[in-house]
Amino acid sequence: MAQLVFVSGATGYIAQHVIVQLLEEGYKVVGTVRSTEKGELLKKNLNNPNFTYEIVSDITAPGAFDEVLSKHSFDIVLHTASPVVFDFNPEDFEKVLITPAVEGTTNVLKSVQKHGPNVKKLIVTSSVASINNTTVPVLDETVHNPITWEEGKQNQLLAYRLSKTLAEKVLWDYVKENNPQYAVTTIHPVLVLGPQAFASSVKPVLNHSADVLNKLLAVKDKDTFRNENYNVVDVRDVARAHLVLITHDLKNERLILFASAANSQLLLSIANKHFPQAGFFKGVPLDDKPNPQFKINDAKSRKLLGFKYYDLEQTVVDSIKQILDAQR
Ligand code: NAP
Repeated sequence: MAQLVFVSGATGYIAQHVIVQLLEEGYKVVGTVRSTEKGELLKKNLNNPNFTYEIVSDITAPGAFDEVLSKHSFDIVLHTASPVVFDFNPEDFEKVLITPAVEGTTNVLKSVQKHGPNVKKLIVTSSVASINNTTVPVLDETVHNPITWEEGKQNQLLAYRLSKTLAEKVLWDYVKENNPQYAVTTIHPVLVLGPQAFASSVKPVLNHSADVLNKLLAVKDKDTFRNENYNVVDVRDVARAHLVLITHDLKNERLILFASAANSQLLLSIANKHFPQAGFFKGVPLDDKPNPQFKINDAKSRKLLGFKYYDLEQTVVDSIKQILDAQR
């Protein structure tokens, strides 16, 4: 019989790809969404009887997932829901980022404990944000972000890193104290680029990470161009990693997902090479050598996952093609 998979934050950029791949592989999926309207749109886009949704309007409310977990007998739990937002008043960092990240994770753990006797795996979509550590020359799967509350409240980016770090700590502390019957793994992607799961989701403003490329394509001249460095992975590979972890016998592992280093100029050069008629800003083509802020050794994760990642050029081309198609 098909395994039943729970996916929190089913409307998310990454989660939608995860669900598409799960359905392709024959799993049954129940996703949590914030409203009926969002659930219906997702259901329409997925167009598959093996997908249903449940409303969880506030993942921070005590017992937020109790009803969903008691209604369905899940085999696998994927917790992806967490805010990825940076346009808020920094004073609100706790309400906007920290509480949903931490309480969302706590609520999933508590509901699975109470109502998930058949759960065999819990896979949490964390981030390289909870691995970032400037005191370590090379980041790998053993590194934790030592960020403090005081540091986290300084700006939106640091607050996001704090949110993912604290949420991961809550998870591993729980595993240590409770030794649950299911296997726990965390996935730590770098900046996630690549097309939306559905072309119809392409809007002038995209989810935060996909919008990095979208915004860059809108740059018109050198006055508004900044050559930022990024570490990048394709959203389809992030989704695939979730599926691989469902079938692997892994326990208590943290996996980094990193395909390639990039900078804004390299992204623009790829854009101009493949879409010469689109009139994208050319930038300063000689400055296309990425100089990443963090060096990453992800050899262990690549070996465990065992599949080849999309290369950067394909990720960028597929994203831009979708964006240009939506503008027609
Ligand atoms: P996304 O498109 O913004 O999706 C986030 C999902 O979480 C959405 O379904 C959103 O619901 C839900 N959510 C956020 N805050 C919520 C709240 N307070 N209550 C209920 N639901 C809430 O982001 P994403 O890029 O797919 O990210 C998914 C996960 O991957 C996150 O855990 C993120 O930290 C992690 N991650 C992302 C990246 C990246 O570059 N994209 C990199 C590393 C890790 P709505 O759609 O209703 O807002």
